[in-house]
Formats: sequence, C-alpha cells, structure tokens
Amino acid sequence: MRSHTRSHPRDTGSPRDITIVGAGIVGLAAARYLRASGCEARITIHDRADAPGGRLMSERMGDDRLIVEYGAGRMHRQRHRRLHELCSELGLPLAPFSYPAQLRQPGEAATAPVRPDYRSVVATLIAAGARESDRRRSFADFCTEVVGAPQARDLQRCSGYDTLLHPRLPVEAGLSILCHHPETESLFHEEGSGAQWFTLQDGFQDLAWAVAMQLAGDIEFSYRSELRHVEPATGDDGGYLLEFAADGVRRIERAGAVILATPLQNTQLLSGLDKISPRHASTHLEAVPLMKGVVQFDRAWWPASERSRCVIADTPLRKLYLTGGSHALWFYCDGASARRMHSLLRGETSFPLALVEQHLGVALPCDVRVRRSRWKFWEHGISFDSEARTDDLDRGFNEIAPGLAICSDVYTDHLGWIEGGLESAEAIARHWQGDESCHRAPAPLCSMPLRADGQRISAGLHWTGSRASFHDSTNLEFS
Ligand SMILES: Cc1cc2nc3c(=O)[nH]c(=O)nc-3n(C[C@H](O)[C@H](O)[C@H](O)COP(=O)(O)OP(=O)(O)OC[C@H]3O[C@@H](n4cnc5c(N)ncnc54)[C@H](O)[C@@H]3O)c2cc1C
Repeated sequence: MRSHTRSHPRDTGSPRDITIVGAGIVGLAAARYLRASGCEARITIHDRADAPGGRLMSERMGDDRLIVEYGAGRMHRQRHRRLHELCSELGLPLAPFSYPAQLRQPGEAATAPVRPDYRSVVATLIAAGARESDRRRSFADFCTEVVGAPQARDLQRCSGYDTLLHPRLPVEAGLSILCHHPETESLFHEEGSGAQWFTLQDGFQDLAWAVAMQLAGDIEFSYRSELRHVEPATGDDGGYLLEFAADGVRRIERAGAVILATPLQNTQLLSGLDKISPRHASTHLEAVPLMKGVVQFDRAWWPASERSRCVIADTPLRKLYLTGGSHALWFYCDGASARRMHSLLRGETSFPLALVEQHLGVALPCDVRVRRSRWKFWEHGISFDSEARTDDLDRGFNEIAPGLAICSDVYTDHLGWIEGGLESAEAIARHWQGDESCHRAPAPLCSMPLRADGQRISAGLHWTGSRASFHDSTNLEFS
C-alpha cells in the first residue's frame, strides 16, 4: 500500500475532479447537489450497469397501463421532503398510493381491519421504546420482553413484514416498520396518514432517468464500468487511484475525491478499502431477502367498485395489493417468505393461482387465466448495520478517509428510504463545499413520533441491492 498524502477537500479547497460510483438515485442526486452547492469540479459517474436507476426498477404493463415497481414504489409527502421536491422540480407527476391494509386471519375468508387490541400493543411498544436506551438491542428481544413472545409473533404475522423479528433488527428500525410504512400505518394507527402516500405516475425509474438527462452534457457518465479496487494516490495532488473493469478491460483512473453511492455491502467487496478503513471493511451487515412481483390476468375478476387494498395474510405472499377494476395484482414479501416464494416460483412458467386463492381465502372464477407474471428476488434485499456509529449518523454520510465518502440512507434518520439517500447526498455535497450547517444533532434513540413530519430512526435498516443478484436478469423472471 502506498503512503497516503492527505488531500481533504476542506484542507486544499474543493476537489478539481470528483468520481461518483453508482448511478442509482443517490449517486445522481449527489452530482446534482454538488452543482447546486456551487461545486465546479469535473464530475464523472460510473456504474457497472448499462443504465441509471439501480434499485428504482419500473415497468409498464401492456394495456392495463399499470406501472409495476420491482424496487422502490412509494413516498410520503412530508417525511420524504427532498424526494418530493426533486420530483416537483423535475415535473414528474405523482399519483396517490392508497392501499389501506386489511388482515385475513387464519381460517377466515373475509378480510377485516386490524383489531383494536393490536393498536394498543403497538402503542405500548412505542411508549416502551421511548424509554429504551440500548442502541444495539434487537427489536425481537425488546418486543418479547414488553408484550411477550406470542404477541410478538402475532404482531409480525399481522404486520406483513417478516423482518420485524429478525434477530439483529434494532429496536428503532422495528418500531419504524410498525409506524412508518403505508401498510402498517393504516393498520395500527387510527390517525394513519394514508392521504400522504404517493407513487410516481410513470414509475420511479423515470426519476433516475430524469435526473440523468438533466445532468447529461455537464457531467460524464461511464456505464458498464465496475469499481474493483481503490487506493490512495501518491504525490502532492493526493486523491485516489480507482481501478475499474469495463467489458473485461481493466482501467485505472485518478480522482481528487470519491463518493461511493453503492450499497454498503458492495463497498465492503472493494479491494483496497480494508487498508484505507479497516473499521468500515469489517462492519457486520445482516442481509434479508426481498421479493416483489406482479400477476396480470386476462380479465379483471374483482369489481371496479371495490376499493384498492393491501391484503395481509400469513401465507408466503404476505402482502397482496389489489386495485379495483385492474387486470393485475402485485405482491411484496420479505425474509423467510421471500425465500419461500423464490423457491416456490423457481422453474414455474406461470404464476400458480393456488397461491392467490390461499392468500385471499377464496376460489378464483374458473375462467380466469394468468396472462403474464414477473417477479424480482433480491437476495440481499434488506441489510442491517447495527453498528452504525453516532458520529456517522450525525453527519449523514461516512467519510472513511479524507476525500473518500460513502453516501447511504444508513447514516440518516430515513433508513430504508430514498429520502435517506438524498439526505446523505446533500450532506456530503455541502460538506465538501465547506458548509457544515448540514450536520445535525443525532436523533435520540427511539423517539418514535407518529407525526407525519418526524421520522426518527437511529440504527440501521437498509434496503440494498445484492452484488450477486442485482444485475442478473435471470432474477427478473418472466412468464
Ligand atoms: C424491493 C424494494 C422496495 C423498496 N421500496 C421503497 C419505497 O417504497 N420507497 C423508498 O423510498 N425506498 C424504497 N426502497 C429503497 C430504495 O430503492 C433505495 O433506498 C434507493 O433506491 C437506493 O438508491 P442508491 O442509489 O443508494 O442505491 P442503488 O439504487 O442500489 O444504486 C447503486 C448503484 O451502484 C451500482 N454499483 C454497485 N456496485 C458498483 C461497483 N462496484 N461499481 C460500479 N457501480 C456499482 C449499481 O449498479 C447501482 O446502479 C426499496 C428497495 C427495494 C429493494
């Protein structure tokens, strides 16, 4: 390893050239925020994929005019302020995301709103969470102690999220699942702000494309270019040497400063990073699989008069979303259920209707056929970094060495959401322009407001694409 000449952007003035790795929404936003904060450096964005977007992955489904989201698909108008602003600055139309959740209890055909006693269990947990001070405690242990193991398991079943009782999920991330997801918000909170949830009318992938188009001409894009190795450059100019593999060819580039806007697990796979930041390289991340899919029928078999809804049941599908009068439905599951669905669907050419019937507890009309179905399995769909440090959370990004920063929602109060990535991107851009006002006091542990504007999470829930599966098109299965 060569000796590292320090060239912190704040020591030497703004860097003359900045390399951003990752053309997901966070890398793209980082470039946009850098320009907005007055940065005149030459900016290059690399991505190993051949298009921008990363975990924003949308598709329009034929004559149903349905936009299917295999990755991010919803946003909260107030809690996700930066995302909302970005969409309106780019003129992207929003559409309401309104799928009030209903439970189908085992043995019952009909769905029902959640029983009031579940609401009081969640309220008890929120109150106990406000007194919790152990950042490393798992939500599973906390919940079991506060309400007992059977209630904890029941809550997991009702929430539709298996991740809730993951043995390393931090307390605050568990409470966030119960309070700040559209499904659980409508289930467990009478004042649930359903009217505040939106989707992008033309799909979230359009957002990435719109930002990339806006930046084109000003900054350079390099696709099919995978970062493999990083090391400090020698000489007075400092900066870093980056080794990329592009179409089988190895290429070394020098950068004054680097933003890694890739999932944390991908950064850990980079060679050379362990010597620059042993602490980051050895951070323990837990991954949970995730699955989203759509089934399109040859006709709509549930009435147009029916309200759109999300049916939660204790089947591998877990959450099934029905739109009144639509030809299609979609599902979204995590953890053990996602893995089970993945193995159930492996080798299938058409989505088994028995899974839908089992989930809804009703027989489908016998003349209904599946026209098309597609699904995406994310091996490392969710990751937890239960070792995220308070100082990282304070800054919103992790500058693992001078001029080498990682941007991620993990370092913010919006873990698991695009908003966190945007906050992180904005913070590093302002930090490198010498503006420290973006730093904030770390959130106290477990301040779980139900207010629409106050999402507070302080330990790691992180949705992440997997190096192994993210760009493997066989994982996006067709039938
Ligand atoms: C199924 C699912 C549902 C979700 N739902 C929501 C939701 O409803 N609302 C919400 O706000 N958020 C949601 N999220 C989270 C949201 O998708 C992410 O927070 C956001 O997309 C992360 O953006 P990013 O740019 O940080 O990472 P990514 O989108 O993962 O982009 C990282 C980019 O880096 C590239 N890359 C990785 N390694 C390298 C390398 N070594 N060299 C070069 N390039 C590399 C990848 O190709 C990728 O394009 C969801 C995520 C998933 C998976």
